[in-house]
This record gives sequence, C-alpha cells and structure tokens, in this order.
Amino acid sequence: MKNKNIIQKLKKAELKGRGGANFPTYLKWQMVKDQKATKKYIVANGSEGEPDTNKDGWIVKNHPELLIEGLKLALKAIDHSEAIIYLRKDYFKKYQSKLQKLIGKLPITIFKERGGYLSGEETTVCQEIENKIARPRIKPPFPGQAGVYGFPTLINNIETFYYAAKIADDDYEKTRLITILGKVKNKGVFELPINWPIDRILENTRNIPDFDFFVQMGGGASGEVLLQNELHHQVIGSGSIVIYDKNNTDPYAFMRRIMEFFMEENCDKCTPCREGTYRLMQMIRDRSIDKKVLDDLLFVLENTSFCALGKMVVPPMRSAVKKLI
Ligand code: SF4
Repeated sequence: MKNKNIIQKLKKAELKGRGGANFPTYLKWQMVKDQKATKKYIVANGSEGEPDTNKDGWIVKNHPELLIEGLKLALKAIDHSEAIIYLRKDYFKKYQSKLQKLIGKLPITIFKERGGYLSGEETTVCQEIENKIARPRIKPPFPGQAGVYGFPTLINNIETFYYAAKIADDDYEKTRLITILGKVKNKGVFELPINWPIDRILENTRNIPDFDFFVQMGGGASGEVLLQNELHHQVIGSGSIVIYDKNNTDPYAFMRRIMEFFMEENCDKCTPCREGTYRLMQMIRDRSIDKKVLDDLLFVLENTSFCALGKMVVPPMRSAVKKLI
C-alpha cells in the first residue's frame, strides 16, 4: 500500500468527512497528530442513527477490510494511538465476529453503542465510550483536543476511513455512498460521483418514478424536502435520497413521523430543543401551522440549541411546510 504521508494524500484528494459535517478530513487528522499527549484515540463512528441511511452498514458488510485498512493508516499516522470501532447495536451483533477476525492483534477494539440518534454526535460518542450518560458535551474543547478520557481523539465516520484506504491505494475517484429508499424500484446503496445531482443519480440507478414525487435528501429525519424541479442539487448530509409519492403522502403524517423521531431522540438537556420539538408537534397534531410561530420556533432551534440535533429539526420542517402544505 502506498501510504507514505497519508495526510498529504487526504488533503490532495480533498476528502471531507462523511458523517454529515463535511469537515476536511486531513485537518482533523493533522490536528490530532499535532497534539502533545501520551495517548490518543481514533474512533470509526458507525452509529448511523439517521433513519433511511445504510451506507456504514453496507461498508461493514461488504468491505470491512477497507475500514480496517483506513484505521491502520490512522494508527500509523498518529502516534501513541489506539482505535475503536463504534458500532450501532444491530451492526455490532451482525458483524462483530467478522471484524474481529480482520483485526487480529491490531490495537483496535469494537464498541457497541447504547443506541439512538444522539449516540452518533461526536462528544456523545466520547461520553458513551467512557460509560457516561449519553449527552453531548460543550465545545470547545473539540474531541481532537480532548476527547475520549480527555485525550486527543480523531472521530471520523466509517465511510471516511473507507475512502482513506482507497486514497492510500490511489483508488479514489471522487465518489460517495448514496442510500436510495422509498417508492422506487431499485432501492439500495450506490457508489456514485460526488458531484452528480439528484436527477442524474435517480436516472442512472433507474429510479425515476413515473408519478409526481418529492424527495427527502440528506437523511430520513434531518433531510430537506425537494420538489421535482429542485433535483439539480447535489446530495449532502448523510447521503440519502428517499422518494415519496406526492399525491398520496399526507404532509402532516410525513412531518409527524419526523417530529416523533426528534421528540423521542432528544435528550431533554436544553429548553429550545425539548420545548421547541414539543410545540412543533402540537401544531402538526392539530393540523394547523401558525407560520409566525413556526418561524420563531425554527429560529430559536437553529440558533440556540445546545447540539446539532436541535438544529437538524429545522431543514425538514421549514422545507416541508413551505413546499408540501
Ligand atoms: S439540542 Fe436537543 S439533543 Fe441536543 S442537547 Fe439540546 S435537548 Fe439534547
């Protein structure tokens, strides 16, 4: 494997994190490498708590050797490090023994997360590994400075390590993994060019519906609603596209499913998210949206939520109300 100076290779390849935040991968690796510490952690985040997203599971099932290769690269690049594969419960159950065989004597352990959307948030990942309550921590410090047990910690999505391995092998063609679900014929995970817009993706995968439709793009909870005339956008977030039959989808039922998810998954730590999701749900249950109240609630959620979960309520709700009601 041509893995000399992997951080420079990650920079040249312009790889960005695939967990949704889109942060340049080389900067994260460099930050942890540059920290002075007697111990460092590397975490492959396979929490994948966003509904309708299966790309990390697809990697662990089909290409676990590339995940391990990506971790080996990070272990080599970052001194005094050990690695943890942080897995969603069902992935842990299905793939633990297969991964363990590949790991052998490498300094890599497999951790079964407790579960839930918040478990994938990077500071909550540290909390769970330390067996503490699954709640986000205040940032800064960022995990790269003080993460697991206070040591510098590199946390990347499983897909990011998969692509780091491909980059080291000069086998990266600027692709990403796209999960396509909903009312289509060819559901699944597809590896496609990063810069393809949604319409090209649907066409190429033979998934253009023959009925009026809309999509939720970027995650089955936090993703934005896009109409048929907006499919020139590239896929962002966790890389999913879910197709809905526009004439046979009740917009209130659609929003209710999303809000039930956020109400269930929030940790009750901060008022904007705890009370804001409750108030949004009230309006959806009453099938009566007061646009002024909605705008105020979304503004507060976006600007004052303690962690990303509260902010993620905004894109689906704002777009669904604007485009479907
Ligand atoms: S935004 Fe929501 S999930 Fe995040 S800390 Fe506040 S209550 Fe918890």
